[in-house]
Amino acid sequence: GAGSDLASIRTTAVENEKGFTLNGEKTFITNGIHADLVVVVCKTDPHASPAYKGISLMIVERDTPGFSRGRKLDKVGLNSQDTSELIFEDVAVSKDNLLGKKGEGFYYLMNQLQQERLIVGIGAIAACERMLELTVEYVKERKAFGKSIASFQNTQFKLAELQTEIEIGRTFLDRTIEAHMNGEDVVKEVSMSKWWTTDLVKKVAMECMHLHGGYGYMEEYEIARRFRDAPVTAIYAGSNEIMKTIIAKKMGLV
Ligand SMILES: Cc1cc2nc3c(=O)[nH]c(=O)nc-3n(C[C@H](O)[C@H](O)[C@H](O)COP(=O)(O)OP(=O)(O)OC[C@H]3O[C@@H](n4cnc5c(N)ncnc54)[C@H](O)[C@@H]3O)c2cc1C
Repeated sequence: GAGSDLASIRTTAVENEKGFTLNGEKTFITNGIHADLVVVVCKTDPHASPAYKGISLMIVERDTPGFSRGRKLDKVGLNSQDTSELIFEDVAVSKDNLLGKKGEGFYYLMNQLQQERLIVGIGAIAACERMLELTVEYVKERKAFGKSIASFQNTQFKLAELQTEIEIGRTFLDRTIEAHMNGEDVVKEVSMSKWWTTDLVKKVAMECMHLHGGYGYMEEYEIARRFRDAPVTAIYAGSNEIMKTIIAKKMGLV
């Protein structure tokens, strides 16, 4: 139920002599059905103030009593990857399965999320490049009014604009990856590239499908699948609005 508001998660791990008792559930988990090992974000101190200081990470293995999987969720796109619900009912977790230090979970997540968001950006730009490639091929072949679709100025301008934006996105993303690999603090740049590249992939998907005409709406054309896969990138790994709140904080506006 927490979604964007990570600090308000309700899954709890109550400490006892042997370790912890975990209770709660999580709705959207990528590869939840396939996973043998899951990292659970939970509250070891539900009364901590501020709330994020009470968060810890625990490892739970497949077949641990009380740990079950709910439905494999029926998604609009990304159909080759499962997304599922995970349920934890009085799961006994040993002390050894606490990942890092108790109460430090939020900080670990904040560090690793930069990498996850970069990966989402890479996926978005790669998808943009592929959709553009598919569309350039298509408009050269398809004819209307005795000419190729590529010969219309509208087609040329649209594709020239997309090519420009994709190259700008790729350049900024590559620069951010380089800075991340050099150990620099790239939280602001990662947030910027995540929202910008995933907004762009939605626009590219829409324009490229449109330039395919009716065929673009048919499942047999790759662009149709790519159109379905694109929008979620702006939602997961921290929605684009959350990215903008991070940038605003870094700008000293909050
Ligand atoms: C296919 C898929 C796979 C996923 N895989 C995983 C996974 O493996 N692990 C995992 O932990 N999570 C996963 N998620 C969850 C994902 O991270 C969340 O869906 C995402 O963070 C948004 O949370 P929410 O769905 O609860 O939306 P909400 O938080 O309910 O947001 C709804 C809308 O309100 C906006 N909003 C929320 N807060 C603010 C604010 N402060 N200011 C302005 N606007 C705001 C959001 O941007 C969004 O547009 C997955 C989701 C999907 C769809």
